[in-house]
Formats: sequence, C-alpha cells, structure tokens
Amino acid sequence: MPDHRRLGRELGLFDTDPLIGAGLPYWLPDGAVLRHTLEEYIRDAERRAGYRHVYSPVLGKRELYEISGHWAHYSDDMFPPMDLGGEQVVLRPSLCPHHAVIYRSRSHSYRELPLRMAELGGMYRSELSGVLGGLTRVRAIQLNDAHIFCTLDQVAEEAHAALDMIRRAYEALGITPTRFRLSLPGAGGKYVAAPEKWERATALLTDVLDRSGLSYEAVEGEAAFYGPKIDVQVTDSAGRESTLSTVQVDFHQPEQFDLHYIGPDGAKHRPVMVHRSIIGSVERAVAHLIEQHGGAFPAWLAPTQLAVLPLTGAESANARAFAGRCAEQGLRAEVLGPEQGSLGARVRQARLVPYQAVIGPKESADDRVALRLRDGRRIDARPEDDVLARVGAVVRARATDLWDEAGS
Ligand SMILES: [Zn+2]
Repeated sequence: MPDHRRLGRELGLFDTDPLIGAGLPYWLPDGAVLRHTLEEYIRDAERRAGYRHVYSPVLGKRELYEISGHWAHYSDDMFPPMDLGGEQVVLRPSLCPHHAVIYRSRSHSYRELPLRMAELGGMYRSELSGVLGGLTRVRAIQLNDAHIFCTLDQVAEEAHAALDMIRRAYEALGITPTRFRLSLPGAGGKYVAAPEKWERATALLTDVLDRSGLSYEAVEGEAAFYGPKIDVQVTDSAGRESTLSTVQVDFHQPEQFDLHYIGPDGAKHRPVMVHRSIIGSVERAVAHLIEQHGGAFPAWLAPTQLAVLPLTGAESANARAFAGRCAEQGLRAEVLGPEQGSLGARVRQARLVPYQAVIGPKESADDRVALRLRDGRRIDARPEDDVLARVGAVVRARATDLWDEAGS
C-alpha cells in the first residue's frame, strides 16, 4: 500500500503549507472533484434512505458543550474558547449538540419518528502538531454525520439500516474493512454515569451485530463518552488501524437537552439518539481511498475519467470535440495532445485514468473511438455514441468493473 501523503501530492489532490499551518490541508482541483463526488454520493444515499439534511454553524457557545458533556469529557481535544463580547465561543468538537438543539427547536409527534437528520459539516480537533500529517490526523475535519431521533423500539432497525448503508458504500468505494468492533467503556473516568443506560445500549448494539451475521470483536476503552458504539475499522499503509464508520446509541444527550416527542397517549416521551457516520471524516475516507486504490479510483470517483489521446495534431480538433461530448454527458475528460509527448509517454502519463480514448486518422474519419482500459483490456474502435453510453452506464451504476460488454 502506498502512503497517501506522497501519492496525494504526486496526483495533485491536496497539499499543506506551513503558512496555513500543520494539520490544515487544502484541496487542489482534482482532489476537490474527488471530494465533491464522494460527498454527493453520501448525500444521495442519505436522501434515498429518508434522511433530511441541515446546516449548522461550526462555532457554538461554551455552554452548549457544557450541557452536551463535551466540555467535561472531551476538552483535551478541543481548541481553547474565544472571548466574544462577554461570552465564550468554541470551535465545535462534534455536530451532535447542534442537532439536538435543532430537534428541540420544534415540537415532534411520535408519527415523525424516526426523524433522521444529516449534515456534512465542519468540526475541529486540537491534534498535537507531532502527530499531524496528510489527511488522517487533521485539525479541521469535514464530518459525514447524522442523528436519528427515535423510540427505543426503533433503535435496532435504524442501527441495522445504518450498517447496511455502510456495507453498500464500501462496495461502491471498493473499501475492505479490517474488522467490526463493538466499542465498550473501559476503566477510568471519561464516561458519563448511569450504568443501566450503558447496559441497555450495549445490549441493543450486540443484538444488531449478532443479527447482521458480521463477525466482530468487543473492545473495552473505545466507547464514546456518552455511549457504546459499533466501529468499522480500516488499516492504513503504515499498518495503523483507525475508525472509518460508526453507529452509536445514546441515552445521555436526549436527557441533557431535555428532548421529547408527543406519544400516542398525548404525553411527553424521551427519544433515543442514534449517531451514525457512513464514511466518518471526508479527509480520512479520501486518505484511505488513495491508499486502497493506489490512485486508481473506481471510474465514478476518478478525477479524470477519460484521457483523450489524438495520435497526431491532425486529430486534435476531433479529440477536443469528443472531450466536449463527454463533458455534455457529465463525464470528466481531458485531452492529452501530441505536444505533451509521444503516444507511449501519454499512455503512461494517463495510466491511472480508467479509460484512454485513442483517436487516429481512421477513427477521426468516421467518429469512432478505440479504448484502452486501465486494467489492460482493449476495446476496438466503435461509434462515439456507443462508447459514451457504455462508460456513462458504468459511472452511473458506480460499478467497480470498468466495462460491461453485455450492458449499455
Ligand atoms: Zn453525534
């Protein structure tokens, strides 16, 4: 496995600058395409699964995090508060408190539950500079987060559905998890009290894992301060394991924020909060994708999907016209003309691009295109329309195989 820091810079995906600061990478255009495509996949999957998206600010009053418990249990990882007109505000260490407040801002009937609130939003962590590098340990994080407010009876089904979304996403992204982990509290005082709630939440998650048929390990000392969680672990190029996806059951925050819904009996009831993330932080997910694929991303994610290679200058205009047709179909194509070197050199330059469309005099004459696939397969010259339809179908299906001769 290559190191994502080296490969990410080589491929022009992201970089850092000492003037911006350690742990604060910026995204270059190709990296931004990759990130945007990933974020849109997540939003689309969430919309289909009945989530509604919100936006909330990356800052909040210190009091918000005192109520949520972050201030007491998590402040070592938070940036120091800023004084602002007599009150203190902090860069948020998580999105949960904002979502709890958004839920609380309206009254809710049991008929609205499960209420699934999602956001791809910024959060901050005061990592020490010694452990910063690349995209895996950053101080500014874009988190794929969601909170499901539901009844106790709905928790198992919601957690199960979240695990299913994670499995589907891993299939489309070509990610192989290292293991599933049931993360439990350990010794020490970083957890909120109420043992009976921990036991109930742990029993629920254990049941979800058992019924899913996944093999998993229970590990003490890895729970969130407010509850146990299911973590999906991946391994990086240095052999370090980290959490990409998570599903958590939380009885604590609904209590802290005094959340309720009106039940069929007309009385107020306390909802449960299920926290879930499909890909965790966008930064860590992209770092993992870079390493897992060595830069050869699935076609739907690739920053450039087609490299168009005119044999000589005589075919350049046709090559540009074909690239234009690709763009009209929503495909990302780039022309590598003869001024950029011999055909062999351009083929090597585009070795990570899923499709190389070679256009010679014969193809140019009758609007045909021959393809070289990244996996070594060759597709003989065929009409442009046919090539566009087949490549478009692979991309829309988010297929990992680059070519389906039977489909169209
Ligand atoms: Zn949360």
